[in-house]
Amino acid sequence: MTTCTSLQRLSRQPLPPNGEYPETCACGPAVRFRCGHCWHDQCLDCGFCAVDGCVCHCMLGFTPGEDPPHGPTIWLGAHHARALARWCVPLCVSRRNLANLRDLPRAAAPWVCDSGAFTELSLHGRWTITPYAYARELRRYRDEIGWLSWAGPQDWMCEPQIIAKTGLSVAEHLARTVGNYLDLMAIDDTLKIIPSVQGDTVADYVRCLSLYDRAGVDLSALPLVGVGSICRRTSPREAAAILGTLAETGLPLHGFGLALDALDKCAEFLVSADSLAWSREARWNPPLPGHTHASCSNCVYWAMQWRERVLKVLHKPRQMVLRTTRTPS
Ligand SMILES: [Zn+2]
Ligand SMILES: [Zn+2]
Ligand SMILES: [Zn+2]
Ligand SMILES: [Zn+2]
Ligand SMILES: [Zn+2]
Repeated sequence: MTTCTSLQRLSRQPLPPNGEYPETCACGPAVRFRCGHCWHDQCLDCGFCAVDGCVCHCMLGFTPGEDPPHGPTIWLGAHHARALARWCVPLCVSRRNLANLRDLPRAAAPWVCDSGAFTELSLHGRWTITPYAYARELRRYRDEIGWLSWAGPQDWMCEPQIIAKTGLSVAEHLARTVGNYLDLMAIDDTLKIIPSVQGDTVADYVRCLSLYDRAGVDLSALPLVGVGSICRRTSPREAAAILGTLAETGLPLHGFGLALDALDKCAEFLVSADSLAWSREARWNPPLPGHTHASCSNCVYWAMQWRERVLKVLHKPRQMVLRTTRTPS
């Protein structure tokens, strides 16, 4: 691993009194320390901080790329809260990694909060935190971390292993998913929580749309609609069939937890997606050259290199699929 030699020593700046900092700070590399986001030494070459765990672009070897102009936006999954202050790219962090922290980091880039639904239901077979508690948490993250773009709901995914754990039917999972969104909106509709569409089969997802409709939620009027239970499917074709069907309704879709092959196949249907696939990939591979940890499953270098690979795929020109021309068989 290369190290950074030209460092400027910075002391941590005190935070401005509550409410005085802008919700979306616009610090760039040269000025971002002014708001107190980061108290590490700053690399004099690129302006980003260069302490282990931070991402100085010289150490990274590249400048992190931008999302393609016409989407989808990639929210890079991160395991640790501190990534929010350090990685400087759009991130997705689970509430599970924030809930027990007394001191929250200050976000240095926009981020989204995942509700940790899969882990919650895998462990307990039900939600152990109430919508009231979740809304309270989200208000804290929004106010103390800042730059929270949106948060996922306490939805009920429909993977067979989760259905087995809760002992409930798919229909019940759909009803509870819609019900939770209604609860959260009734508790605090200023929180930017996105609704989630769940299902096992394509027909389930369509049924879930109509449940929202019957509950009086006009999904087409919302800026973003999440699609769940697609990340653990064995074939990216299944995810594409679901997302393609939902995209035909014109809804702006977010894909929860997609791997690279699914992202490639489904990019045209999506406004955004989040992914921790880099971490799983790193776990099953030897660490990057020179890295001393057993695996790079928590490593910013692996994460950022994976993100570059994703962006390369997403930036490649996409051809509209001509559904009418089929090779005769
Ligand atoms: Zn440097
Ligand atoms: Zn700032
Ligand atoms: Zn730093
Ligand atoms: Zn640098
Ligand atoms: Zn590593």
